Amino acid sequence: MSNHTRNKPSNTNLKAPHQETEQIPDHGDAHDRSRNLRPGVRGRVARVAIVGTGFVGATTAYALLISGAVAEIVLINRDKKVAEGHVNDLRDAELFTHTTRVVAGDFSDCGAADVIIITAGVHQTPGMRSRLDDLKEGASILRDIVLEIARHDPGGILLIASNPVDVLTYAAWKWTGLPAGRVIGSGTSLDTSRFRRRLGELYGVAPDNVHAYVIGEHGDSQVPALTSARIAGIPLEDFCREQGLPYDKASLRAIANDTRTAGHQILQAKGATYYGIGSALTRVVGAILRDERAILTVSSLVPESMDLGEVCLSLPAVVGRDGVTRVLPIPLSDVERQAIKASAEILKQYNAMLDIPKGSLA
Ligand code: NAD
Repeated sequence: MSNHTRNKPSNTNLKAPHQETEQIPDHGDAHDRSRNLRPGVRGRVARVAIVGTGFVGATTAYALLISGAVAEIVLINRDKKVAEGHVNDLRDAELFTHTTRVVAGDFSDCGAADVIIITAGVHQTPGMRSRLDDLKEGASILRDIVLEIARHDPGGILLIASNPVDVLTYAAWKWTGLPAGRVIGSGTSLDTSRFRRRLGELYGVAPDNVHAYVIGEHGDSQVPALTSARIAGIPLEDFCREQGLPYDKASLRAIANDTRTAGHQILQAKGATYYGIGSALTRVVGAILRDERAILTVSSLVPESMDLGEVCLSLPAVVGRDGVTRVLPIPLSDVERQAIKASAEILKQYNAMLDIPKGSLA
């Protein structure tokens, strides 16, 4: 019985007692209830499915619960017991956060999800394995998952966090055949937040008021786009001149470098990163569910007009109910333009190492 039906008195309540008895709903466990979830936002309530409940998946579920942005969170894991453990733990937080239906489910729950977040992947172990090994294993895990999801005719947005996120976003788009705007990677949304926070600290303003983007690969070839960076609409160099601050290129280089290596440093210190990415994913989900048309640096198929080839990487993109609807060209210096081209070439080389169907599906 759907919750919609459960909340709404129906004519059956007026029937004779023996008939009412037949209508008594079966209160199963959390798993059983997931079979009867209401359709997502395209129907009635906002549902987010999270595939993979490791550090990133579980933290994202918690961040979503705290945000209050969704009505239903479905956790899907290959070991269902782990998903159920997280469900029970998260439901203990419900009274203190937001009334949200958190359940353990399976791939059939993805069909009516507004957003399907994929966080299943290779555990983050810096320096332990080659990038290519991680790439192949991550791709093989993702392939099985997206093919399962595709069987259930997903009507929502596929949001990928698993690494290497740009390559996997491209592969997921190809493997599923979904419209490109509906397959998004978390991309450099996290790197952009790291960049803006550091710039805000340097100039003594809130990161909210720093408009600056990290574009390209979520990885070593990322590009901190300083030419387009603004504080209160003012280019950084002009801002420094007006404020009597030094426009110190060495500090900016250090910030760019710190931003690029921040994830690695956290991994070295505690073995995983999850609060930042969990919050970034929650931000993207909010933009989708509220049809915000927020400009976020998520990874998506680059438009042909940008002359970077067929590749997914991050550029400032308009994100709303239909996923990415526009990718915005921003002013770049010659050096930045060369750097974004190099980033695209590196990603295309990774793409070529995988068994991804050739030819555009767009
Ligand atoms: P984790 O090891 O804690 O969790 C991985 C999850 O994947 C587990 O729930 C596991 O059951 C599941 N899984 C593994 N193989 C599977 C398979 N074959 N089928 C189904 N599920 C499978 O790892 P984590 O720390 O949560 O990281 C998850 C992913 O997120 C990694 O790829 C990591 O690199 C990535 N990540 C991305 C960002 C980003 O900014 N995009 C940041 C942090 C982590």
